[in-house]
Amino acid sequence: MKSWKLRGNRDIKTASEFSIARVIDEVKTNLNPKDERPIIPLSIGDPSIFPCFRTTQVAEDALVAALRSANFNGYAPKGGLLQAKRSLAEFLSCNLPYKLSPDDVYVTLGAKQAIDIVLSALRRPGANILLPRPGYPAYEALSVVNQLEVRHFDLVQEKDWEVDLNGVETIADDRTVAMVIINPGNPCGNVYTRDHLQKIAETARKLGILVVADEAYAHLTYGSNPFVPMGVFGSIAPVLTLGSLSKRWMVPGWRIGWITRSDPDGILEEQGIVECIKRSLNTNTEAATFIQAALPQILETTKTDAFFTKTVNILKEDADVCYEQLKEIPCFTCLQKPQGSLFLMVKLDLTLLQGINNDMEFCSKLAKEESVILLPGFVLRMKDWVRVTFGIEPSALEEGLARIKAFCLRYAAK
Ligand SMILES: *Cc1c(COP(=O)(O)O)cnc(C)c1O
Repeated sequence: MKSWKLRGNRDIKTASEFSIARVIDEVKTNLNPKDERPIIPLSIGDPSIFPCFRTTQVAEDALVAALRSANFNGYAPKGGLLQAKRSLAEFLSCNLPYKLSPDDVYVTLGAKQAIDIVLSALRRPGANILLPRPGYPAYEALSVVNQLEVRHFDLVQEKDWEVDLNGVETIADDRTVAMVIINPGNPCGNVYTRDHLQKIAETARKLGILVVADEAYAHLTYGSNPFVPMGVFGSIAPVLTLGSLSKRWMVPGWRIGWITRSDPDGILEEQGIVECIKRSLNTNTEAATFIQAALPQILETTKTDAFFTKTVNILKEDADVCYEQLKEIPCFTCLQKPQGSLFLMVKLDLTLLQGINNDMEFCSKLAKEESVILLPGFVLRMKDWVRVTFGIEPSALEEGLARIKAFCLRYAAK
């Protein structure tokens, strides 16, 4: 018999171990098909399925016009169409102390590809990268794929989920190439102050490393801390900022994102990182040309369109309702009202629950008995916590929270 020499890639298996999609699928296997109530997905990262978040018509029209012009049926240049890069440079300069040039911007297939490209550019034998815990699992997965060793630093709940900067210094060594921050925070719903961002930059400078700033939720803020882009501190330490249309415009399926370089002293150029990013873009797939072509008009919409204020108002109301309701449930600890993004983290006190031994069991039973889906915290390296997506249609959120409350009451330890 022929012996085939095929083997699956083990790295891919390791990389997907902490995949949100995989664990959510597992939680969903518990759903009871006899429950006639609608399933409430307090686990999603894509609220575009809800009518209240339908994107602005101006953006839709811009896309249609670009498509109908028949000027954008070909491949886009690697790194992006010039008009897209120009408009992004201008748009992303607006909160910075200096102006970005189109050369500082690369268009990507969503923020996800931006992560992959940056990590691939940083890869070298023995290098390690510092990631937040809790964080966004794509970083862990793509670090494995790009053969970067992952080291975690903690976000401190008691300090509004600020980075434990002493911890960062402890785990870094001379093979550390970068630290990642996510601001506004997924999964904690926090927004960093200008002061804290500056301290992060100073720590990176001390360690001689790059800051990768994931700003997928830029401007989706509604608390007392305004959104400050990390690029403001590019002269302290070089910053690569990742962003996309996905969350703010509620169009993750359009697959448009970007990498921007805030590095007025040219350190990334000097260190060869810029060259590696360009080469990585050369071997990757570019974002759809007609969507890139519509970017100038799409970015314009933020200036006047009521869509953005409406979205932020809904999220603010959602965040308030979610925080107030969860606070009332004895087995949950949730210290701060979220100020940004679509998520918050809640700690489970299992001693107050009968017959539930961990976060996965909590989520599985909740799916089975209440048709509500939550993300178990272990996926985000926070065992016995859960992540709640509050950024959904408000009526569905209220219904979901009521069912969670009933569930916890039923399991309350006597
Ligand atoms: C959603 C998300 C991404 C990926 O964004 P896309 O543009 O959909 O690829 C990256 N980082 C964080 C923190 C996210 O929540």
